[in-house]
Amino acid sequence: MRLSRYFLPVLKETPAEAQIVSHRYMLRAGMIKQASAGIYSWLPLGFKVLRRIEQIVHEEQVRAGHIPMLMPTLQSADLWKESGRYDAYGPEMLRIRDRHDRDMLYGPTNEELITDIFRSHVTSYKDLPLTLYHIQWKFRDEIRPRFGVMRGREFLMKDGYNFDLTKEDALHAYNRHLVSYLRTYERMGLQAIPMRADSGPIGGDDTHEFLVLAETGESEVFYDSEITDLKFGDREIDYDSVEQCRAVLEEFTSRYARTDETHDEAVWADIPEDRRRVARGIEVGQIFYFGTKYSEPMGAVVTDRDGNRVPVHMGSHGIGVSRLVGAIIEASHDENGIIWPEGVTPYHVGIVNLKQGDASCDAACEDLYKAFTAKGLEPLYDDREERAGAKFATMDLIGLPWRITVGPRGLKNGMVELTSRRTGESEEMTPEAAIARVA
Ligand code: ATP
Ligand code: MG
Ligand code: MG
Ligand code: MG
Repeated sequence: MRLSRYFLPVLKETPAEAQIVSHRYMLRAGMIKQASAGIYSWLPLGFKVLRRIEQIVHEEQVRAGHIPMLMPTLQSADLWKESGRYDAYGPEMLRIRDRHDRDMLYGPTNEELITDIFRSHVTSYKDLPLTLYHIQWKFRDEIRPRFGVMRGREFLMKDGYNFDLTKEDALHAYNRHLVSYLRTYERMGLQAIPMRADSGPIGGDDTHEFLVLAETGESEVFYDSEITDLKFGDREIDYDSVEQCRAVLEEFTSRYARTDETHDEAVWADIPEDRRRVARGIEVGQIFYFGTKYSEPMGAVVTDRDGNRVPVHMGSHGIGVSRLVGAIIEASHDENGIIWPEGVTPYHVGIVNLKQGDASCDAACEDLYKAFTAKGLEPLYDDREERAGAKFATMDLIGLPWRITVGPRGLKNGMVELTSRRTGESEEMTPEAAIARVA
């Protein structure tokens, strides 16, 4: 992409309404614009990051054997009356009436809708196990939307639902989700710690939230410092293996890590004092096992091996896709702007032309642009007639992992400058060497 043809409405001033750094940088970097309270337009740069995060979520879900689909944002109230949640959900649910006076709602989550799909089509244990998911916009009329996309009213969520014959099978689905989430967040450059949590309005006995540690997090968390040493890394997991998934769950949940809702002073007291950490965290996902809570009232039953009709065991599993954009920035920035992890960066490398219009500078930049594109990488080329300082400030703000600076002085010796956004270190090298380093 050439910046002269892009739409990147960078703000010079820090917007007064933004209280936390991710919100400030997302507004300043022209990633989002508020449409109304807690509802945002995703401008091109923000949209690109959102899509990259979404893509990682898709890839890891499919890798775990889960099946993508898409359900609508608007739902009929009937199903929610059937499950008993229409009244229970309260004012967070946006209720709508259509022209025929039918009660509708903008879905805050999809347990009812998916259970209805399931019961309409699946009748036998032979079709199990089954896990379906989608990535779709949700609406929750949050009492205090704030922190930009972190607590929006409209937000993008991955929500997946497993259907299993037995509790045992459903717990494997739970463990499988935990493993796939660990991989998902690590690919985004995040450490998200699974913590024992409270099930809230979804209901159920088993649940873990995934929290990214950050001072601006809305949850208070208590954990054993040993847990932050755990890395999922690039281990190969057979998602069908009950033993392998359970072993990962045990490894990542055996140390104390809880949110304030489930914090237990008595257990806490047994942890060596120098390992006890009290901090704040951002909830970027949650997994639930809730058994037959929906299948029973909604009649989602299958025949088992003996011909008995039994309600299926279910769980649901969410990832806050749009919240993650903010959470990643909270976890990775400095005083000059965002520092994107490689896995989610909107462009792989920025090219800064110090002397736009100079034939040799322009040609060298074009060559770099073509070379990166040929390698399947996306460069963002600042080809505007701007001062060097302004170009550098924009690149720092939008946080691409690499910057290549092309100027007449270096080019005389066949050199460009490669700068790492994370370390700030710059090195002179040939364009070929710079391409090799980035790729
Ligand atoms: P919170 O405690 O932050 O209100 P939640 O527990 O109500 O979140 P879940 O029902 O578990 O949310 O939804 C799954 C994921 O969706 C959450 O882990 C979070 O990452 C994301 N999410 C929930 N509410 C919002 C929101 N208002 N804005 C952005 N993302 C959200
Ligand atoms: Mg909530
Ligand atoms: Mg929560
Ligand atoms: Mg939650």
